[in-house]
Amino acid sequence: MPTLTDQKPLYYYNYVGGEWTESSSKEYLESINPATGEFIGYSQKSTVEDIEMAIDSVYDTFQTSDWGYNPKRRYEALLGLAQKMEENMQHLARVLTMEQGKTIRESRLELAGCVDTLKYFAGAARTVFGRSIQLEPNNYGVIAKEPLGVVGIISPWNWPALLMIRELAPALAAGNGVIVKPASLTPAISVEIFKLIAEVPQFTKGIVSIVTGPGRSIGAAMGTSKKIEMISFTGDTSTGKTIMEMATSNIKKLALELGGKSPNVVFADANLEKAIPLIGRSIFISAGQICMAGSRLLVHESIKDEVIVKLKDYAENLIVGNGLLESSDMGPVISQSQLDLIEEYCQIGRREGKVITGGYRLTGEDYDKGYFYAPTIIDELLTNSRVVQEEIFGPVLAVQSFSTDAEALALANATDFGLSAGVWTTDLNRAMKMSKGIKAGTVWINTYNKNFPEAEFGGYKQSGLGRTRGIDGLMEYCETKHIHFEID
Ligand code: NAD
Repeated sequence: MPTLTDQKPLYYYNYVGGEWTESSSKEYLESINPATGEFIGYSQKSTVEDIEMAIDSVYDTFQTSDWGYNPKRRYEALLGLAQKMEENMQHLARVLTMEQGKTIRESRLELAGCVDTLKYFAGAARTVFGRSIQLEPNNYGVIAKEPLGVVGIISPWNWPALLMIRELAPALAAGNGVIVKPASLTPAISVEIFKLIAEVPQFTKGIVSIVTGPGRSIGAAMGTSKKIEMISFTGDTSTGKTIMEMATSNIKKLALELGGKSPNVVFADANLEKAIPLIGRSIFISAGQICMAGSRLLVHESIKDEVIVKLKDYAENLIVGNGLLESSDMGPVISQSQLDLIEEYCQIGRREGKVITGGYRLTGEDYDKGYFYAPTIIDELLTNSRVVQEEIFGPVLAVQSFSTDAEALALANATDFGLSAGVWTTDLNRAMKMSKGIKAGTVWINTYNKNFPEAEFGGYKQSGLGRTRGIDGLMEYCETKHIHFEID
C-alpha cells in the first residue's frame, strides 16, 4: 500500500461550491513532518479574492437551499461523515501524525473524538427547539431557534482535526452554512477530512467549504466579511483579541476558544498513585501543545519532594521520538520557532527557578532531523515569573507550592487564563470548595483531560468567550427569535 510520502507531490485543493478549486495565487503552503523534515504536501496559499468567492458561494447556497430547514438531512450528513471517518481512520491518523508530529496513538484518540462529536451532533441536529409561552390573555409567544447564516471557523494546528470538527459539527447541526480556514501548518489533515465530506451525498452541495491560506490575510477577510454572521475561533489569545476588533464590522457573533495556563492542585491527602501519571500526561501529551495542558503544578509543601521525585521519574521515562512509531510517548513540537520559544522560556526558568529535569533540545541521530524537546520540570518559581504566567505551548511544567487551602486557591486563580484545572484530594468538602472557587471553564476532580461532546468546554477570563460542546455549544450557533401571536 502506498504511504503518503510515496505519492509525491501531493496537492491539496480548496473545496468551494462543492468543487475542488485552485487558488488564483498559484502559490502553495508546504506541510512538513516536524519529526523528520520530510515533505508531506502542498496546499493552496489562497488570496482574499479566493476567500471572498468562497464566502459568496456558501452565502448563496444557504439562502437558496433547504439546509437550514432540514434537520433530518443534517443528521444524515453528519452521521455519514462520522462513518467515512471511521472507515478511513488509519489513513487519517497517519496524515495527522506526519503533518502535526503527535504520536499515532494520540492521532487515533483525536480522530475517535471527531467521530464521537459528529455522532453526538448528528443526533442533536434533530433537537434544536425553542419554547412557547403564554404572555397575556390574547398574546402568545414562540421562542424559536434559527441558524445564523454563514459561520466562519478558524482553527489552530495543535489538534487540527478535532478542533475543526468540534465547531463544524454543531455549526452544521444548527443549520448554518460554514466556511473553514485551517491553520497554515496543518492544512493537509483538514482537507483530507473535506475529501470525505465531498463523498457524503446528504451534504447540500456548496453548504460547507474549506479554504487554506494565511490567517493574516484570508482569516482577517473572514473576520471583516459582512456576509459572515459568526466567527468561531480557536487559537492564541492575542489573535482572539484581533478577531474581536475585526468582528465590529457587522457586530459579528463570536465564539473564542483561547489559551490556558491550567493548574493541577495537589493536596496532601491526594491519591498520588493515580495523580502522578495523569498530571504527567496532562503536560506532556502533544508535547505540551494543548490548550488545556496542566502546565502549572501547585503542590502542598508537605508532599512536594515526593511529588517532584515521582514526576521527574515519569518525565524521564517517556520515550520521545517520531510519532509514527507505536513506541513513542511524545513527539516533536511543531516548528523551529516553537522550539526557540520553548528554549527562551526555559532560559528564564533557569534564571528564576530550578530545573528539575529537561530544559534542553534533544539532539543526536534522528532527533537532529526534527524539533524534539526534553520533557521539562521547573521548580521554585515565583508567581510573577513569565514561566508561571504565560502559555508556553511546550512540554514545560512550572511548579509552585502552598501551605493552606486559601493559598492554593489564590495561586490557582493567579493568571489571566481560566480554561481548566485539576484538583487532587480525597476530601469531598475541599474538592467542592476548590471547584466553586477556581475561575475556570472545566474543573476536574481527581482526574484530568476528560472531555466529552455532551459536556460544555470553554474559558473564563482571557481563555475565551462562549462555550463549545454540549447543548450550550450547539446554541452558540443559533439565533433566538420571538414570534408573537395576538389573537382577536
Ligand atoms: P493562532 O492564533 O496563531 O492561529 C489560529 C488560527 O488563526 C490559524 O488558522 C491562523 O492562521 C489564524 N490567524 C492568525 N492570525 C489571524 C488574523 N489576524 N486574523 C484571522 N485569523 C488569524 O494559534 P495557533 O498557534 O494555531 O494555536 C495555538 C493556540 O491555540 C494556543 O494559544 C492554544 O492555547 C490555543 N488553543 C485553544 C483551544 C481551546 O479550546 N481553548 C484549543 C486549542 C488551541
